[in-house]
Amino acid sequence: MDTLIVGAGFAGATCARRLADAGHPVRVIDKRPHIAGNAYDRPNEHGLLVHEYGPHIFHTNSDKVVDFLSRFTAWRPYEHRVLAVPDAASGEAYPMPINRRTINALYGLDLDEAGVAAFLERVREPREPLRSSEDVVLNSVGRDLCERFFRGYTRKQWGLDLAELSAGVAARIPTRCNDDDRYFTDRFQAMPQDGYTRMFARLLDHPRIQVETGVAYDPARHAAERLIFTGPIDEYYGHRHGRLPYRSLRFEHEHRTDCDRFQPVGTVNYPNDHAYTRITEFKHLTGQVHGGTALVREYPCDDGEPYYPIPRPANEALFKRYQALAEAETQVHFIGRLAQYRYYNMDQVVAAALALCERLLQPSAAALEA
Ligand code: FAD
Ligand code: UDP
Repeated sequence: MDTLIVGAGFAGATCARRLADAGHPVRVIDKRPHIAGNAYDRPNEHGLLVHEYGPHIFHTNSDKVVDFLSRFTAWRPYEHRVLAVPDAASGEAYPMPINRRTINALYGLDLDEAGVAAFLERVREPREPLRSSEDVVLNSVGRDLCERFFRGYTRKQWGLDLAELSAGVAARIPTRCNDDDRYFTDRFQAMPQDGYTRMFARLLDHPRIQVETGVAYDPARHAAERLIFTGPIDEYYGHRHGRLPYRSLRFEHEHRTDCDRFQPVGTVNYPNDHAYTRITEFKHLTGQVHGGTALVREYPCDDGEPYYPIPRPANEALFKRYQALAEAETQVHFIGRLAQYRYYNMDQVVAAALALCERLLQPSAAALEA
């Protein structure tokens, strides 16, 4: 069966390779001038590898996803660490997620793990059920830590209050009583050795895969027996039920020649100051050795490329109306962060794409057996 895939990000490229491996010819188009979707990276003008669309750190607990991607890249072990600066005037930086060191440094204490657990038990505001992100944060760390580390960041990032966002947003960030200062705790944490774009080039390098970049999907021009769509689902349906809200970002890249190390960890968050949410220094992620250093600042905004679905009940209800249209389709499939309107990490997108392909390939496997 002839398949057209719209989008050359993780969702589209994974489907393309899986179907091509199973014998199906696939055409992939992407409106951007490059492959790899939001994971696209490139050397900057000084030869430092930078992530065009903000920092992408790979982490997963799925062996299936690691096995699949490891066919196309070697890995550089990397555990991401983040500091938060709640008051830029003082410049004091604390581990994020909040851990024992955050609490002790912030309040001038010297608590052990049990002491931190007791402290949090005292300051938390128990909430039941945990519906909003505010519920999640107050329930785990209480009001003071919420105001210092979460409310301002969230307002900047989403243009909404914590109380207006579903629980899942803040639930991405754990609270720890020990000294573990890693941002993620997944079993597998690593960066593609030669970068994401090189990994995608190998992923899409297959005689049955044809890729065209700089080509926007046009239903009048792009006929196919089967369509896999990884762009915004509301756009596919001409916004007939109204626009699904997405949050965008403006990325400000900077190359510094005056220092070879700008900050002590990969990312520093600024919850309460500046128009940007965080600064990432790429050398931490890539391990590159260089006399200068490359940074990116993320400025959240409403208009621009859709990067984040906005998890809140009204949007989830609107998405369900589009999902109902999608479920009635037999030859069109929607997969990925924009098409499924889910706050997916990269590994979750790969897992979802592999699962879709398994479903799509089942009938032909049955036919082969018969
Ligand atoms: P995308 O990568 O968005 O790919 C969709 C592609 O479809 C795009 O290239 C787009 O140009 C194309 N397209 C859309 N509409 C059309 C059309 N009409 N015609 C042609 N082409 C079209 N995940 C992690 O696991 N770790 C991280 O550290 C991490 N950091 C992130 C940081 C930021 C700032 C952002 C925004 C996301 C981050 N993510 C991270 C999430 C990660 O980017 C996504 O999970 C993943 O890239 C989604 O893949 P996708 O294929 O679904 O979508
Ligand atoms: N968050 C916060 N303060 C922080 C870090 C995160 O309030 O210092 C909240 C904020 O709402 C953010 C969400 O937790 O959007 C998820 O954070 P994550 O770092 O996972 O966001 P992403 O990397 O996907 O932008």
